[in-house]
Amino acid sequence: MQKPMIERNRKAGESVVTALRMRHFDAHYRATMEEALALAESMIPADAEVTFGGSMTVQDSGLISRLAEKGCAVFDRGSVPAAERAKFVEEHFFADWFLGSVNAMSEDGVLYNMDGNGNRVASYIYGPKNVLLLVGMNKVVQNEQAAIARVRGLAAPTNAQRFDIDTPCRKTGRCADCKSPDCICATMTTMRLCRPAGRIHIILVGEDWGF
Ligand code: SF4
Repeated sequence: MQKPMIERNRKAGESVVTALRMRHFDAHYRATMEEALALAESMIPADAEVTFGGSMTVQDSGLISRLAEKGCAVFDRGSVPAAERAKFVEEHFFADWFLGSVNAMSEDGVLYNMDGNGNRVASYIYGPKNVLLLVGMNKVVQNEQAAIARVRGLAAPTNAQRFDIDTPCRKTGRCADCKSPDCICATMTTMRLCRPAGRIHIILVGEDWGF
């Protein structure tokens, strides 16, 4: 990454961290994913039960394997057959840690997420004792309007390419505001405060991660 972008991300990231802390999130900024992973590993103890949703940022970061090597009990809902997934999610819903990211974050520290089945956003809102979100600075946008535009116009049609689903965006790459039974945009959440305080830990990363 070029130096002006590194500097911009650091300055903007630090001000977003301040905004997140005012909303009672446990927020941090790290310039690189390697630094973010070191912090994440220091937060999550070796005896923790850890689970996660379908975040590409989490999967691509390498955090899962590092926590498993450390000794954490890692429960991957994606590793079980679809027919058994609901039971698996239910059994591990109250894990010590749930790992994920966001679809968008506004500069004033509000989180925006879109979900199909809803189990990911449900875990963000309530259940696991702790939530850790790894968020690339590419997810941070100026305000609510830009956040919703990012979620609906970019994140959802891109995520749709990962799944074998029958939706317009899967074919065209653009949202058609569909009502398909396969729609991955059933529920959109706006999280403006962390309750209880400090339950949601956010590490902003000064790089592009996920989409
Ligand atoms: S077309 Fe449907 S599934 Fe695709 S992004 Fe739009 S609402 Fe979501």
